Amino acid sequence: MSPKASAQYILKLNTRKVLKFIRDNPSISRAEISRRTGLSAPTVSRIVDDLIEDGLVEEIGVGSSNGGRRPNLLRFCPDNNFIIGIDLGTTNIYGVLANLEAEILAEEKIPTRVEEGFKAVMDRTIDVIEKLRGHLEKKQKHLNGVGMAVAGLINKKRNIVEFSPNFHWHEADILGYLGQRLDVPVCFDNVTRVMALGELFYGVGRKYKNFICVNVGYGIGAGIIVNGQPLLGTHGMSGEFGHITLEKDSKIQCYCGNFGCLEALSSGNGIARAARLELESGARSILLDMCQGNLEQLTAEMVANAAKQGDALAWNVFHRAAEYLGIGISALINLFNPEAIVLGGGVTQAGDILFDTVRSTVKARALSKISREVEILPATFGQKAAVMGAVSLIMQKVLNLEYKKSEKLKEHSYFSLSADKES
Ligand SMILES: [Zn+2]
Repeated sequence: MSPKASAQYILKLNTRKVLKFIRDNPSISRAEISRRTGLSAPTVSRIVDDLIEDGLVEEIGVGSSNGGRRPNLLRFCPDNNFIIGIDLGTTNIYGVLANLEAEILAEEKIPTRVEEGFKAVMDRTIDVIEKLRGHLEKKQKHLNGVGMAVAGLINKKRNIVEFSPNFHWHEADILGYLGQRLDVPVCFDNVTRVMALGELFYGVGRKYKNFICVNVGYGIGAGIIVNGQPLLGTHGMSGEFGHITLEKDSKIQCYCGNFGCLEALSSGNGIARAARLELESGARSILLDMCQGNLEQLTAEMVANAAKQGDALAWNVFHRAAEYLGIGISALINLFNPEAIVLGGGVTQAGDILFDTVRSTVKARALSKISREVEILPATFGQKAAVMGAVSLIMQKVLNLEYKKSEKLKEHSYFSLSADKES
């Protein structure tokens, strides 16, 4: 790297540091930033001026002084730049228009209609995006980009959905399709990792730097945050927590083809299937009434509700699933030594009946005293976890300064990939 390029690189790192510092410490002065980050006063001033020009930081009045000039106080400015987040679910395409603090300004939801195929689903996604953009254009505000949460195995190196059992997609090129039809940056990632990002920027991440988000819904996945960064793995395929084998001789086949995966035992699908098998063998349960004798209609939610009403079959099925989940989570805690585990997804809506069993299993099985006391928390945003995560995909890029737009900053040219390549 040339001396000029390395100076630019250092400036970029320092700008990120200052922006993050201001976001984490509202009502702070330039002098205080300099004192607490160790950056020189002129460097901080120059960086802050750039960030103000770019609409990411604003002055909010003057603070008190112990003699001398009273300082201008600063804060992160969420209302000049906007983000669209899309939760591409198998039932609905749910989109939000949000500011940089993830406050929702507008929402759109339409049925996904997976059966119509990839292109139809993408066209419907574009409809949602365009409707949300309409709200923004009225305000003449800037859209940074569109983030999407997608269920499936995503290859980050090739930027494609390798396989999504929910959508029946193989090698789906979301960016290729949307990129030709939209003039805003789009990025997407696996729904669970995206949920973890949502927690990182807007939820438990404000308190913890090392935590794991476990999504227990139709399937099971984990989003792993290490030192404030998502763990991707070589191809971006880390976190397939649902496919660790917990029962070697299991007769229960997982969607991945293996037998005895955690997902086959503890996901919403797995719970419904286990209850169905019990009922088919002639066991008695109020579940038969709940699904009106049609076992195909049986859901994990029904099993949880029947268990809460004291139904023995339902309680056994649900408890067993939660216990396996707890065993898997104990392994995660032993492996990663996190500060917290965040549980989200449809099955976690069951509440205490799930959390109590997971917590007691972790207490019984995790290795050390510290591991046994790791906090196990419900996801911050409940049903909005995926869409909040989708917003965070773009927020991550904003905080990494990938969308800087002021002319003065372009002069520095430390934000574009092409400039990095030249060096
Ligand atoms: Zn599996």
